[in-house]
Amino acid sequence: MSDQESENFWECKDLDEMSPAEWESLCDGCARCCMVKLEDEETASVDYTAVVCHLLDDHSCRCTRYLERHALVPDCVQLTPDNVLDFKWLPVSCAYRRIAEGRPLEPWHPLISKKPDSVHEAQISVQDKVVSELSVHENQLEDMIIKWVEY
Ligand code: SF4
Ligand code: SF4
Repeated sequence: MSDQESENFWECKDLDEMSPAEWESLCDGCARCCMVKLEDEETASVDYTAVVCHLLDDHSCRCTRYLERHALVPDCVQLTPDNVLDFKWLPVSCAYRRIAEGRPLEPWHPLISKKPDSVHEAQISVQDKVVSELSVHENQLEDMIIKWVEY
């Protein structure tokens, strides 16, 4: 295996073969999974809203309580190699979904660009596009539905 191949672990390993550090680095930092979603109970279709979890820093797109997130936010999804494809609402851009589906990472992914901000520059992240759920009443969520997340 060449140095380039061993460096590009996402091209030669399945999700369940990645080390914890590799798994973490695969997240592109888009924070689309932290957006509040509305599910139609009859059709199970999901709409994304321009509203995000109260623990998200909407500029850095990072969780402010990452290590405690699952205890603090029961709805916070814990992705694992076995369940990635169960979440049909994951954005098509999500790096975990892409690798699970055998698709390559996009040029804007920080592992490819080597620049942590490239996910923001490419307008993939939620940076400056969303508001915290703390500032939105539940009754307003339907008015905040957006269509720019494809899943
Ligand atoms: S949608 Fe996927 S790549 Fe984006 S922040 Fe969530 S887990 Fe990471
Ligand atoms: S707890 Fe953190 S990782 Fe989970 S949805 Fe909220 S901001 Fe995102």
